Formats: sequence, C-alpha cells, structure tokens
Amino acid sequence: MTADEVLALDEKYLCHPYSAFYNAAKPWPVASAHGVRLVLSDGKELIDGMASWWAAIHGYNHPRLNQALTAQAEKMAHVMFGGLSHEPAARLGQRLIDLLPDGLERLFFCDSGSVAVEVAIKAAIQFWQAQGRPERHRMLAIRHAYHGDTFAAMSVCDPDTGMHQLFHPFLPQQFFAPAPACGDHNDEQAIKAMDDLLKREQHRIAAVILEPIVQGAGGMRVYAAEYLSRVRALCDHYGTLLIADEIATGFGRTGTFFACEQAGVHPDILCLGKALGAGYLSLAAAAFSRPVMEAIDHGEAGVFLHGPTYMANPLACAVALGNLDILADGSWRQQVAAIERRLHDGLSDCEQFDTVRAVRVKGAIGVIEMKHPVDVPAACRRFVERGVWVRPFANLIYIMPPYIIGGEDLDQVLAAMREVAETG
Ligand code: PMP
Repeated sequence: MTADEVLALDEKYLCHPYSAFYNAAKPWPVASAHGVRLVLSDGKELIDGMASWWAAIHGYNHPRLNQALTAQAEKMAHVMFGGLSHEPAARLGQRLIDLLPDGLERLFFCDSGSVAVEVAIKAAIQFWQAQGRPERHRMLAIRHAYHGDTFAAMSVCDPDTGMHQLFHPFLPQQFFAPAPACGDHNDEQAIKAMDDLLKREQHRIAAVILEPIVQGAGGMRVYAAEYLSRVRALCDHYGTLLIADEIATGFGRTGTFFACEQAGVHPDILCLGKALGAGYLSLAAAAFSRPVMEAIDHGEAGVFLHGPTYMANPLACAVALGNLDILADGSWRQQVAAIERRLHDGLSDCEQFDTVRAVRVKGAIGVIEMKHPVDVPAACRRFVERGVWVRPFANLIYIMPPYIIGGEDLDQVLAAMREVAETG
C-alpha cells in the first residue's frame, strides 16, 4: 500500500488517541521500525524519542524479542488462564517477584496499564470489605496524577487536568492531596497536607495511590524520594494501603529498576505495564503483598473478583521474559546514566529561553515545560522535518527514548527539541 492509501483508509475507518473523529490531524504512516528508527512509508527515517510511550525500551525489531515471540507463537499463542497455566507466565511471575520490592509476592497479569490500576483499586477495596470495613473504599490520590483512562483509573487522575470535569458525575469520588513540589528537596507542606487528609479521612480511605518519583502524563513532574518514603510512613501510621503505579517508571527508566527503590519503599500493591511488554505486546500486572491476598481470601467473596480473557497471554509473557533477559546483563544502567548526562548537557540551558518555564531530567526522561500550550500537530511536523519523532502534549516537550539510543542520535533529538522550544 502507498502512504496515501494507508492514510485514506485510516481517515475513513480509524480513531486515534485523544483525537477528534473527523478532521483530526493526519498521522504519519510507519512502514517499519528498527533500533531507534521509525521508517515512514515514504522511506524517511525518524529517530524515536518516545519509545512508543515508554514501552520500546530496547528499540524496535530486536532480534532477541522477535525470537522470543516467534518461538512462543509456534507453541501456543494463547489459552484461557481460568483453570489453566503455562510456562511463560510461571517463569515470568518468578522473575518479576525476584526483581520487585520485598513484600510483593504474587502477580495478577492483565492487558493494559489502566486495567492494572483497576485491579489494584479493586483489590484495595476488597481488602477492606473482607475485614468488615466497607466504608474504607476511597482512594487518596495526588494532584497532577495520571493513572489511565478507564473509570476507576480516571477517578484518581488529577481532577483539573484529567477528564474529571466531563465525567465527574459518573466517577467514584476520591480524595486528592496537593502534589509534592518538583525538585530534590522534600516538600514538607505537601507531606503535612497528606498527613492532615489521612488524619481526617483515614476511616474512609482504602489506599493511597501514586506514581513514584515521576508523575508522568499529568505533568512530567519529578519529586524527591523523601516524599515517597514519608508517604509510606504515613500509610503505615494510619493503617492505609499504598499502591505504587510503576507503569511508566518501571524497568530502569528513572535510573533504578523500579522508582520505589530510590526511597527504599515497599508498597502493598504495585502496578506494572508499558515497558513490561517491551513495546511488542500490551502486558500489565498488579503485584500484591501477602496481607492483601490473605485478607481477600478470607473475605465474603473468598476470591479476587477479576479475570481478563487475555490474562497472562503467553506471547506477551514470552516477550517479557526476553525483555528481562536483555535487562539482566545490567547494561541498561550505563545506557540510562549516559542518556541522563546528555539530557542534562543538552537541555539545561533551555531554561533561559523566554518561552520555557522549566527543564526537568530524571534517568532517561527529559522534559521542557513551556510557558504556553504547544501546537502539537505543528510541533510534530517540525520534528519530522528534522528527522526525529517527538510528540509534545499540553505545554510539555518531552522525551523518553529507547535505552539503546546512541549519543549522536540523541543529540539530534535534543537539537530539535531546543529549536522547537526556543521558538515556541
Ligand atoms: N499509569 C501510568 C503512570 C501511565 O503513564 C499510564 C499510561 N500512560 C497508565 C497508567 C495507563 O496505561 P495504559 O495506557 O496501558 O492503559
């Protein structure tokens, strides 16, 4: 098919994320992808700064991941997980539990990050129901949070910048604490506000839910590890569960394997997604601690009430195992550290531009926060003209490239970011 033919069918038959149905900006048709390059249908190559929304950490068309996928496809693509099990899931469960913070003992595999958040919230609610405390069913989330697009997930997204206004009447009502300030220093005021909220509402709160260290789609905000450890201490003090959403931060992105490690925090429930499937297949999971699972088992229902059709899909589990094999040699540490240094060097002085409010770097994440919203289709066009793929949103021009990106390629992405940021 030619690029025009793809676009004609796309325009006629398809919807895109957060897009109008009619007269939306045209997407760029991608014919193939390899390493850190997306190859457009007209043959033009773009250096990828987005890792397909945090997922493709090892780049595209990776021989080892391809092999894992095809080998599994020849054995079995899928079987229902009710009453059946299989080696890819069993091995993946064991490997992940070894890597996850202590105290998390089992995984519930599901098909997307949003569903992992739903699963985590349901488990927290069932935990309290099972102990005869059904009034403890609310979540305490943080402003600027983003946890996904399904209903319970939307209910814990930032009430102003999320989709609350539109869906407000239909969302579970949650509590929100002020977001911690960006930066390396703990925000005592934010801790005090969280403490006050928990003190006042503890009897109605099932769990605190947060994105550890980096708040992603709600503002690409990086906060101090101490905030996280203090929140854990508050949860212990008030007997509330802690849910860590590591869907974006997991698998090395922030410089440690999981962001929680930077604060030595052990959550009661932890959500995984995105890079788990290495950009090949959508795979997500919620990991549970023993007290959560034991309470649910002893509750009235006696079972955890969730069960997706594609739970623990063997193809996705096989790719995830290949992903962990690649990560196991530890080179991601040097890759992420090298990206972080280059992001600092390439972006720090953008703060001097009149158009820019702030620059933030954490691990392999680089963010330019603009003073005004970015014209996304126009900015994307400019990035494509410069041979890179960067897709801003709201007032944020940001990247989280595949870990394998080379220095020269990264410099080309950074030069394009600077140019677009400087001219607004
Ligand atoms: N939580 C966080 C922190 C995320 O960044 C995202 C995805 N942007 C989600 C949850 C939802 O994941 P998914 O898009 O796979 O449903």
